[in-house]
Amino acid sequence: MPFLKQSLAALFLTTSLASASIHSSAQKLYVPISNPDWTRDRQPFRIAGNLYYVGTFDLASYLITTPKGHILINTGITGSDTAIRKHIEALGFKVTDIKILLATHAHFDHVGAMAAMKRMSGAQLMIQEKDAPIMADGGNSDFDFGGKGPMFPPVKADRLLHNRDVVSLGDMQITVLHHPGHTKGACSFLFTVKDEKRSYRVLIANMPSILDETKLPSMPAYPEVGKDYAHTLDTMPKVQFDLFLASHAGQFDLDKKYKPGSGYHPEVFFDRKGYEAALEVLHKAYLKKAAK
Ligand SMILES: [Zn+2]
Repeated sequence: MPFLKQSLAALFLTTSLASASIHSSAQKLYVPISNPDWTRDRQPFRIAGNLYYVGTFDLASYLITTPKGHILINTGITGSDTAIRKHIEALGFKVTDIKILLATHAHFDHVGAMAAMKRMSGAQLMIQEKDAPIMADGGNSDFDFGGKGPMFPPVKADRLLHNRDVVSLGDMQITVLHHPGHTKGACSFLFTVKDEKRSYRVLIANMPSILDETKLPSMPAYPEVGKDYAHTLDTMPKVQFDLFLASHAGQFDLDKKYKPGSGYHPEVFFDRKGYEAALEVLHKAYLKKAAK
């Protein structure tokens, strides 16, 4: 099943965690795993209405534009700010118009370039309250990977988010859905975009994949991890939406749905079935791990 194969790589459920380190301008960062698809380029494109894909090949970053400025969700690994900036400009927008930065969860492969994007844009960083301490110490307090030094340049949140909070800018309202487990503050985002034909309810889902390092039902640094996964796996199938997107391109099968340069096709992202099937796979993985 290609979906599963790609997802497994995308969710980094690999058994070998080859550690490596990369150099940022300021300090040496501890990076537990890497993947060539995290830096490989992907042509930016319009997904639906005022929503655009501006990330790398597998690490999704989303730009939501409004007349009052823009919102950027996720920034990939450290150093991805160059690619994201290039993508935003190729679409005809300005990085300095970004007013709000959001993240689906505070892992180094999604928030590595957050500090750089914040510096470049002057935007406000809004993070779920339980992931904010991890953002602020570069991932060193992460319950799975922490304790080996920062994994990404630290950045302090300007606003703490909670379940069902609404982030507003211009005519956009983004509802925060707290889906903990993968990290304590993992979130999905639900909002509506429009084009000349219709409106689309969009879910940027943080899929509840379980890392090898995570032990269920409980870990010293995250006693409620099993309970949180159970809650998230129970809650996510009830979310109603039209378009399914996620933190990794592989998690929503972007390559099967959309060919680079093929124009504007929001309809290809209608995929309730794919969403439910992916959650089902993750639910089985959770049950198997919980039973050990
Ligand atoms: Zn992650």
